Amino acid sequence: MNSVFVICEIDDAKIADVSLELLTKGRSLANRLKCKLEAIVLGSELDGIEKELFPYGADVVHIGDDPRLKPYTTLPHAAVINGLFREEKPQIGLLGATTMGRDLGPRVSSALGSGLTADCTALEIGDHEEKKANMVYKDLLYQIRPAFGGNIVATIINPDHRPQMATVREGVMKKEIYSASHKGVVKKIDVSKYLKPEDLVVKVLERHMEKSRVNIKNSSIIVAGGYGMGSKENFNVLYELAELIGGEVGASRAAVDAGFADHDRQIGQTGVTVRPKLYIACGISGQIQHTAGMEESSMVIAINNDPMAPINRIADYVIVGDVMDVIPKMITYYKKN
Ligand code: FAD
Repeated sequence: MNSVFVICEIDDAKIADVSLELLTKGRSLANRLKCKLEAIVLGSELDGIEKELFPYGADVVHIGDDPRLKPYTTLPHAAVINGLFREEKPQIGLLGATTMGRDLGPRVSSALGSGLTADCTALEIGDHEEKKANMVYKDLLYQIRPAFGGNIVATIINPDHRPQMATVREGVMKKEIYSASHKGVVKKIDVSKYLKPEDLVVKVLERHMEKSRVNIKNSSIIVAGGYGMGSKENFNVLYELAELIGGEVGASRAAVDAGFADHDRQIGQTGVTVRPKLYIACGISGQIQHTAGMEESSMVIAINNDPMAPINRIADYVIVGDVMDVIPKMITYYKKN
């Protein structure tokens, strides 16, 4: 059985968290399929990068270290990965559902004629029976993702083409060290073998980085506000509470759409996925598109004036009341204690 491949991404000179999350999942898929887990890293000045990947279970790390691969541009990356995949014939190819993964994944999969499931939230191994053809496909990758606006969860399979490719949303899978002493093999990619002059037509002349002002993804406490907060001004109590308890402010899409908070605070299916230790949902109803982005929180406190609000079903504690009554009381309490 050929390997499970993870196409890794570099963020601030380190392997991006989403790639480590994919390696953690890839390790369990590879164990199940009894095959190797292999990582691909493309870029420049990558000395020692494999040391970040071996503890997450990579058996092989393919490194394409070449100035033509930095910064990321679509064509050279796609050319190298296509070339490598044609030779290595992976069973599974995984990428993060990031700007890079969403750009690169479809290029690679269409060039290989394999198809790709975007924005998966879970991956499993299973069989599929094709009753009409009297066929059983063994050990397929179940690519699981929300569909129809989050109203159903679809399981997508690709019985006929390889590799089975998927992009996976950031933060939905756990990043876990497999073994600190796990050692694999490094294979240097001969980049020139795959690059043609037409792959090098794009030059990045300048980069403007817009620094996100918030870091809700890595915050261990999130105070999230919904449409029930009523106004942008009322959100100020959330900022005050968050600051007192060392958290960040998140928001539902309805609150963002109403202009109560900026889009980079949106949590859910079309926002970020978070898994804080504490999530305080204030005036949020708990529609599936919102809970998809926060249901892995260790503890959820819901503050809502509707005792039947759906968020209450996943909350550990529910405070039934008006947000503008309850939250100022919490602020007073935390200021005193
Ligand atoms: P509402 O549903 O209006 O709920 C407001 C809540 O506040 C209610 O429960 C109400 O009882 C309570 N409330 C009202 N006043 C008070 C008060 N004074 N005190 C206490 N409680 C009060 N949503 C997201 O959040 N994130 C996403 O990423 C996302 N992606 C989507 C993608 C698609 C394709 C679609 C179709 C929808 C998406 N949505 C997303 C929207 C989602 O379906 C809901 O519309 C949205 O989450 C509702 O936000 P809300 O809970 O803040 O507002």
